[in-house]
Amino acid sequence: MKTIIEPFRIKSVEPIYFNTKEERIAILEEAYYNTFLIKSKDVLIDLLTDSGTSAMSSNQWAGIMQGDESYAGSPSFFRFEETIQQITGLPLVIPTHQGRASEKILFSIMGGPGKYFVSNTLFDTTRANIEFSGAEGVDLLCEEGKHPSIPAPFKGNMNTEALKQFIVEKGAANIPLCIITVTNNSGGGQPVSMQNIKEVRKICTQHNIPLFIDACRFAENSYFIKLREPGYANISVREIAKELFSYSDGCTMSAKKDAFANIGGFLAMRDEALALKCRNLLVITEGFPTYGGLAGRDLEAIAIGLNEVLDENYLQYRIRSIEYLTTKLVEAGVPVMQPAGGHAVYLDAKAFLSHIPVQQYPGQALVCALYNEGGIRSVEIGSLMFGKYDEQLQLIPAALELVRLAIPRRVYTQSHIDYVAEVIIEVYQNRSQIKGLTIVEEAPMLRHFTAKLKPIQN
Ligand SMILES: *Cc1c(COP(=O)(O)O)cnc(C)c1O
Repeated sequence: MKTIIEPFRIKSVEPIYFNTKEERIAILEEAYYNTFLIKSKDVLIDLLTDSGTSAMSSNQWAGIMQGDESYAGSPSFFRFEETIQQITGLPLVIPTHQGRASEKILFSIMGGPGKYFVSNTLFDTTRANIEFSGAEGVDLLCEEGKHPSIPAPFKGNMNTEALKQFIVEKGAANIPLCIITVTNNSGGGQPVSMQNIKEVRKICTQHNIPLFIDACRFAENSYFIKLREPGYANISVREIAKELFSYSDGCTMSAKKDAFANIGGFLAMRDEALALKCRNLLVITEGFPTYGGLAGRDLEAIAIGLNEVLDENYLQYRIRSIEYLTTKLVEAGVPVMQPAGGHAVYLDAKAFLSHIPVQQYPGQALVCALYNEGGIRSVEIGSLMFGKYDEQLQLIPAALELVRLAIPRRVYTQSHIDYVAEVIIEVYQNRSQIKGLTIVEEAPMLRHFTAKLKPIQN
């Protein structure tokens, strides 16, 4: 088979600013060993997130010019609405400024103390919005998903036995919603199978629990179903996506992911009464229901992006480029989550830095090492992001200590990715010199964004 090439040409470029290792060491120290606090111009290859970092197409930029900025009833909204209705089959579409705004609205209405939201894995903002309402978020991930190095086709699946048991334990009346995240961002960008979604749907229907999809990466997940699930090889990704949404009562979406937009999101659903409550809240927090915190031009860019992401030449290149980096690392013996996910490569920091205990945040230590060595910005998805404290103020660590290298869509070329592999392999070879970290300052919620840390000297 020939090389799978980037299915685009480059029309406009942005410079990368180079710096030295000595300069980076000083920059990181000044940023308290938190790469969220570094200026982006000090980063060579920015793999912090695939969110809002996509390169828009020439068609999307043309759409930006066509955006109609009318306060009410803009044609850009109707194109946005129709596109989402066509792709998801969900009739009621509510624009928001990004995914977490959709979550805030939904959980303000459905959440509250004493309630449980069940999921394969809730993303950090989703969990935070649930907890902020006073409710509890519960992750019921399948067993395969908990073992980073053991390959399986659908490691994002929900554990349906655990779901049934949880419903018996807590009572369906206390579970306002089940949420399936596709692909499972916090669990390695791993896909969920159609079979699993159908089974969860069946359980939810039996207990009268609505099912929402956290749809940020619905196209990548649908492509994995086409590649890996029996019976889907000859079905278009568009049809697969439609089937996936057909089992849901609604979805939350960040258009900063699979819609190739730099900002935006939406809520979509079937229930008129719920949509009415959502729109009432939307007006006081986001904006009028036909723009919801977005400019008309953003609505256009999202509508165009949602159709572009379903292009299977694009999805083939996208999934292959993640697999390409994963394979290079596996061949060099680097512990990485397998198989490759849809949007990111996840290093298993617990195995990578086995000499650093979880109380010293091995994931964040690795993030710092990748920056110092090669100017690569990644993000810890482990105990810095998800850790909690018990009553004795001892750390309750996260289940996994991962470092995510999220690949922005249509932004970096193969030589950028080759460079990333070289840096990671070099850091791996010198891993014994890396030291753990301790937190010196933190916020009560989503602490990883602003926490200040320092290295532990021993
Ligand atoms: C990014 C993301 C969100 C939140 O969306 P924002 O646009 O960043 O607010 C929610 N869920 C998942 C799975 C995500 O990846």
